[in-house]
Amino acid sequence: MIVLMKKNCTQQNVEAIVQLLKEYGLGANLSTGSQATVVGVLGDKTKLGGVNLELMDGVEKCVPIMHSYKLASRDMVPEGRTVQVGTVTFGGKKLVMIAGPCAVENQEQILQAAEGVKAAGAAMLRGGAFKPRTSPYSFQGTEEEGLKMLRRAGDETGLPVVSEVTDHEQLAFAEKYCDMFQIGARNMQNFRLLRAVGRTGIPVLLKRGIASTIEEWLDAAEYIMSEGNSSVVLCERGIRTFETATRNTLDVSAVPVIRERSSLPIIVDPSHAAGKASYVRALALAGVAAGADGLIVEVHPNPKKAMSDAAQQLTPKAYTALFQTAVKVAEAVGRTL
Ligand code: PEP
Ligand code: MN
Repeated sequence: MIVLMKKNCTQQNVEAIVQLLKEYGLGANLSTGSQATVVGVLGDKTKLGGVNLELMDGVEKCVPIMHSYKLASRDMVPEGRTVQVGTVTFGGKKLVMIAGPCAVENQEQILQAAEGVKAAGAAMLRGGAFKPRTSPYSFQGTEEEGLKMLRRAGDETGLPVVSEVTDHEQLAFAEKYCDMFQIGARNMQNFRLLRAVGRTGIPVLLKRGIASTIEEWLDAAEYIMSEGNSSVVLCERGIRTFETATRNTLDVSAVPVIRERSSLPIIVDPSHAAGKASYVRALALAGVAAGADGLIVEVHPNPKKAMSDAAQQLTPKAYTALFQTAVKVAEAVGRTL
């Protein structure tokens, strides 16, 4: 349930609600927008018994939240949330362009990639050090050494870095190197991992599961947020369908659906949806046109030699061309890059 406060309510009115909720063993999530203040009631509202919050001073009305996810819902923060990663803001007018290789392979490779994507205009660097591969015999990533290389490339180019964590035991050392944690599609419902990243306070990029509904995805975000970390950015990366011409099917509709149902920013990953470099640009532009808050694109200095996802990675040159076209599409939908 959310408590919508009157436009002219006082600070004391809001505090009285929060205090009362506390007395009944409930939490409160405050959202002070330019239109109105909203108090989200956290916990089982039946604990309130017969107490009618609508009778309290400064309250406009109480609205039940029908979804299982509450903190992630749009009702809780009607204006939408922004997520800050260093100086980069997700959810503002400016889109966040993240780019970099699928995997951190060595220092030279990640540095070259960082320099290439930075020159193209990217705001953040990606690079996986723990690779969740379908086969146990495939390259599994450069692990902590890879994170160190990624950090160095980020520092040298001034780009904040995002990298995937696949196990809660990695968090203690991974937080020394990452500005943002990525939870990959395969781990979207690894609830222990979700809770653990929720306790770190480090911003999280939560990819949609390979065959997850939007509702399940938002419930996964709720796991992170319920531990006190509301810096969650959603990432649509394609879902598994009957179609085999592409690696996955980019669900562009997820962008407006998320925007309607959730307060969280959403970005699009055209690379894992396409699975093929020549399709990436079209999907990226579709994401921007649909209203995504950013893109995460795989870029490798030499895609043919990539140790993972070679077919879908762009050269820095192709990424630069994509970026320049995305500027125009963003402008057409009232955004900037
Ligand atoms: C990745 O970003 O390299 C990755 C493995 O993504 P996903 O979890 O979306 O498959
Ligand atoms: Mn990849």
